Amino acid sequence: MTETPRQRRQIWNHTPSLPIQNAPYWDWPMKPLASLHFLLKSWKPVGMRFVMLFAATISWLFFAPDLADTQRFAFDWIAEIWIRNFVILFSVAGGLHLLLLRFRAQGDDYRYDMRPMMTGARTFWFRSQVWDNMFWTFVALQFWVFFECLMWWAYANGWVTLITFDSNPVWFVTLIVLIPIWAGLYFYMHHRVLHLKPIYRYVHAWHHKNINTGPWSGLAMHPVESFVLLTDIVIFLIVPSNPLHMLFLMFHHGIGAPTSHVGFDKVKLGVLDIEMGDFHHQLHHRFFDCNYGSTETPWDAWFGTFHDGTPAGDALVRERRRKIWQTK
Ligand SMILES: [Zn+2]
Ligand SMILES: [Zn+2]
Repeated sequence: MTETPRQRRQIWNHTPSLPIQNAPYWDWPMKPLASLHFLLKSWKPVGMRFVMLFAATISWLFFAPDLADTQRFAFDWIAEIWIRNFVILFSVAGGLHLLLLRFRAQGDDYRYDMRPMMTGARTFWFRSQVWDNMFWTFVALQFWVFFECLMWWAYANGWVTLITFDSNPVWFVTLIVLIPIWAGLYFYMHHRVLHLKPIYRYVHAWHHKNINTGPWSGLAMHPVESFVLLTDIVIFLIVPSNPLHMLFLMFHHGIGAPTSHVGFDKVKLGVLDIEMGDFHHQLHHRFFDCNYGSTETPWDAWFGTFHDGTPAGDALVRERRRKIWQTK
């Protein structure tokens, strides 16, 4: 049975243009020009990738400890990092929550799912989706600070091969381009493991309580999950890098997770429409057995779990569910 536009609107208030396009990076035969085009588009200044790099650069220049001080763990520089990350996290997630869901500054423009954040549901701590999400985000903040401090210590003590723009300009820039792709690859790999039955039940189900998501949902997860999520940073123990790269990857969690769960495709800030929400991941929260990675990871398409946002994608998920029930 085909779905009418009205039924479709009952599921989504707004969607980006569909079907969702996957990056052609992994296509065979290779598509270098299309890949370059996709990559360049991912770096547009009104996109979160650019914003996160900008935030990482500002932090690196003005809100970062001296490497000489981080050879030993000490309260002062660790506290400075904690305060900086606390301010970023609570400004981004809290600011977006107030702007979009409390003061409804742009009404329902670009909003994916019209259902409000849940209140009164036993499934959430404090019986409130927002308070539950805030609490677990605060827990995730501790791991964020822990891993960042560990990395500063590692740079200062020579555990990481330190490069600068002057010493290795080509690798410096290449790594900036590769980091978001690495973040997506790591996300798929650990996320797929989180969906294995016992791990899902005891750990990842906490994040999936959020069928509709808001800015506080991005890091609202079981502490085991937020710890594992942030371990992607240890890549720099083998990859030569600069603290700027480390900050950029960390901001994929501290800024990227709240913004990708914001629930709005674009956020109007003055004259700018910032491309913020991640409809690909919104579909994962809504339909569950699809879109484990990102549009830049190939495996959802290869393993038949890619939902492109269209009714054909809905049918694909339904069919997968039917098969799973049959084998049971
Ligand atoms: Zn999941
Ligand atoms: Zn999520």
